[in-house]
Amino acid sequence: MIPFTKTILQWYEKSKRNLPWRKRPINSYGVVVSEFMLQQTQVPRVIEKYYEFMTQFPTIIDLANASKSDVVRAWSGLGYNRRALLLHKFAQEVCEKYNGTIPQSSQELIMLSGIGPYTSGSIASFAFNKPEPAIDVNVRRIYMRYFHGKDQGTPMDQQKERELYELVKKTIPYKKSCDFHNALMDFGSLLCERKKPLCSECPLTGSCSFYPLYKNEGEMVLHTLEKKKENGVLEEGKHVPNRIFRGRIVEFVRKNENREVTVTTLGRAIKKDYSPQEKKWVLMLLQNLENDGLLTVTKKKTRIQVQLQD
Ligand code: SF4
Repeated sequence: MIPFTKTILQWYEKSKRNLPWRKRPINSYGVVVSEFMLQQTQVPRVIEKYYEFMTQFPTIIDLANASKSDVVRAWSGLGYNRRALLLHKFAQEVCEKYNGTIPQSSQELIMLSGIGPYTSGSIASFAFNKPEPAIDVNVRRIYMRYFHGKDQGTPMDQQKERELYELVKKTIPYKKSCDFHNALMDFGSLLCERKKPLCSECPLTGSCSFYPLYKNEGEMVLHTLEKKKENGVLEEGKHVPNRIFRGRIVEFVRKNENREVTVTTLGRAIKKDYSPQEKKWVLMLLQNLENDGLLTVTKKKTRIQVQLQD
């Protein structure tokens, strides 16, 4: 085991977070649920929803047999509702193609709905202890800082990502992929943070390539993320992405199922300063949600009825 790996594992033994999907024996289905929930959502919020979701759909078969609308209802509060649909589809595909048993290899996992390069690696390592790299922004940042002295969390070109993949693979300890990946996740969240790495508390300072640079130049050497402006509209003078309004529409429908409303009522419910000129925009959001398979919109003279798709 190389010193980098050994040090991270030792740190993890003392500092690990107690998260429900890490409980032994590992529930592979629970790992999948947590991985879908954790995309774009913070850990504390996921923990609470995780328990509720697992109570409602305790097995992958229960989830596969549930209606789409029940799964979207259960997703309430997590945002990015498309993830609920993808998770549902994933469960159905596992039941159809693998008789309800989640495949263990990242090559098979990546062929299923909702699974990308990171999730295929994370499920293989967290659920099945396979030595498969799971590289997210945290892991990329740790390796790029430590081994290359660069502050880089976002994906790079194909060649560099391939090299990073090989590097991470070499550091995964024999039969300890699950623990090691958990350790990396905690290390990236608690110590080697994006905005303020806690180098003074880090056991790797003596060998980290980034530390001397950060020590001398401070925040100047931290990579500032240029946030792309998402499509959206102004609400009370502030730019709000359309995805927030989409989430509000789904939330409105969850609470007002089968109610017929005018577009104006819906517009006012989702936007504080809604004006009738924005009717087209609300209809566009509804159309997108319908296309994504989340809602069904029925037009009725002057009103519309919006329901979660079954
Ligand atoms: S010394 Fe600082 S930059 Fe290097 S791994 Fe530790 S926390 Fe990250």
